[in-house]
Amino acid sequence: MSQIDEIKSRIDILDLISESVKLRRAGKNYSGLCPFHTEKTPSFIVSPDRQTWHCFGQCAEGGDVFKFVMKKEGWDFKEALRYLAGKAGVTLTTYTPQQQEEKDAHERLRAQLEEAVTFYRHQLLNTADGQSALTYLREKRHLTDAVIETFGLGYAPQGWDNALKHFTAKGYSQQDLIDTGLLTVRDDADDPRNTYHATRVYDRFRDRIMIPIRDEQGRMAGFGARILNPDDVPKFLNSPETPLFSKSRLLYGLDRARKPIRATDQAVIVEGYMDVIALHQAGFENVISPMGTALTEDQLRLLKRFSKRIVLALDPDAAGQAAVLRGLDAARQSLDREGEISFDARGLLRHESRLQADLRVATMPDELDPDEIVQRDAEEWKRLIENAQPIVTHVMGALAAGRDLEDVQVKADIVAQVLPLIEDLPDPVVRDSYQQKLARFLRVDERALIGRQVKGPRTRRPRPKGEATTPSEPLKPKVAAVSPSHKIGAHCLSLLLRRPDLLYRLDRVLQEAGLSRLSPEDFEYTDHQMLFRLVRQSLEQDAHDADQYLHQNLPAALSDLTDDLLAKSATTNSLPLDPVDDRLLEDLFRGVIKIRRLGLDENINQLRFLQEDAQQQGDLRAASYLEMVSHYQRSRNALDQASLKLTERRQE
Ligand SMILES: [Zn+2]
Repeated sequence: MSQIDEIKSRIDILDLISESVKLRRAGKNYSGLCPFHTEKTPSFIVSPDRQTWHCFGQCAEGGDVFKFVMKKEGWDFKEALRYLAGKAGVTLTTYTPQQQEEKDAHERLRAQLEEAVTFYRHQLLNTADGQSALTYLREKRHLTDAVIETFGLGYAPQGWDNALKHFTAKGYSQQDLIDTGLLTVRDDADDPRNTYHATRVYDRFRDRIMIPIRDEQGRMAGFGARILNPDDVPKFLNSPETPLFSKSRLLYGLDRARKPIRATDQAVIVEGYMDVIALHQAGFENVISPMGTALTEDQLRLLKRFSKRIVLALDPDAAGQAAVLRGLDAARQSLDREGEISFDARGLLRHESRLQADLRVATMPDELDPDEIVQRDAEEWKRLIENAQPIVTHVMGALAAGRDLEDVQVKADIVAQVLPLIEDLPDPVVRDSYQQKLARFLRVDERALIGRQVKGPRTRRPRPKGEATTPSEPLKPKVAAVSPSHKIGAHCLSLLLRRPDLLYRLDRVLQEAGLSRLSPEDFEYTDHQMLFRLVRQSLEQDAHDADQYLHQNLPAALSDLTDDLLAKSATTNSLPLDPVDDRLLEDLFRGVIKIRRLGLDENINQLRFLQEDAQQQGDLRAASYLEMVSHYQRSRNALDQASLKLTERRQE
């Protein structure tokens, strides 16, 4: 749950407003004198069901807890958030001045890395030394100049101080260069007996092809560097862990793959940077790779923002029997060797269930790497990815490869390896279906498997530290139900966040139906309103990448809410997001009609109470309330007609 939703679930609007307004029951709602304008009879209504308030008097506005506190105290959203978080006992992640300073420092380091990209590119394209690297990329890797440019590939020349000299001449301090990982410090440099401190730094990257690594927003993070001379080791050398470069968080190519991943609703993970580049050149752009180490949950979590359908394209070494066994047996031994994804079925399955993702494995045939496969036959790549198998199925196949499945011992061995994996799955339905699959695969009686399971002690491994399975929940949510309008609003927003471009089409459809464009006021909750404004702004930036704008301008307080919403739309029933824009649009259109209708219903309902009250007390406002009711009723009719028309058109 996002922090904002957490706060909403713990603060009851009735409690909050009762602190300053005397409220009286009015049907399922409460009424009172509006705290924002002076009046003698109540025109202020609080709805506990919806967790909203509304003033039908002079103010003519309403909102949620945030809006109430903002209006009452004259605060902005951030201030209201801080206050309510404190009240709810929710700890906010916000920037301290120290963190702000850190952010600024990061900006400086990024700028330096951008300059390094330019420096290495110049070496590749314009120097005699760079020629062999360029030839390698063009002839051995078959990369076009356009792709070399797109990915910003470069060359780090031989020698110990090329980057050192170039960047210190430009005014960078050695410490900055060490912080970005361009320079290396000799191990003994910190030894107080070493008096040559300053001279014991040298270029980290020498005689290597330089591959800039950017974060998902396209900001420079570091470099991957590949050898040219086959005798050099290691084959790949990454930037060291720096404030910007975290191997366990970054995914290579995600800045470019992000949009294609959303569009195809599928992400393909390959092992090497060069594979990503080759596949991109072949037109498969939804591809990324980890940083030469095992996939982490952080990486999968990041990826999940863009799609939950993830395929691991592994070379036979990583996917084969040996790797599967190693992955199963190795009690999480760190296989953190450069240039190799360790295949850890148990770990991956756990990630899969915890992240509610769909992880599959595609195995490359004939000892070929993905880049060799697309070069051989692009269609083949497509087929391989389409035929990717769920992890458990893959493990069964890998364990059975080359063995005699009629042999009882082999069967027993496979059962012993696979059954614990299946038992670990949280969903009983999925568990059953895999048990059936395993039984069918080995041609044994399923009951025999289940019998085994009951007899044998359940050998659940202790979970590694720091992997709590049940997050501690100190406080029970107080406000249980989420109102329908909150749910539908969140649904519409989740779709718009994923496809901001649909907003223009939605506006057109609404206007064609005689209704107004979607506006922030259509959303009842302050955080939703803010996110919607951001979506609208992102489109107006004539920037080609609305998505990028959105993420860059997202206030910290809304970022986990956005993640939540994006994750939601990734699972939104069976809607594949790309080919059926029309269905998506209709889904949005109906969602908008629904929230508007719910809002009007509520207003009408609340006004009836006020009107009766006013009438009893001989208040003149009774008449104006009646007028408002009929106004809302007309709006409601218009909505119903628009919705009816759409249904009729669908049936034609
Ligand atoms: Zn008022």
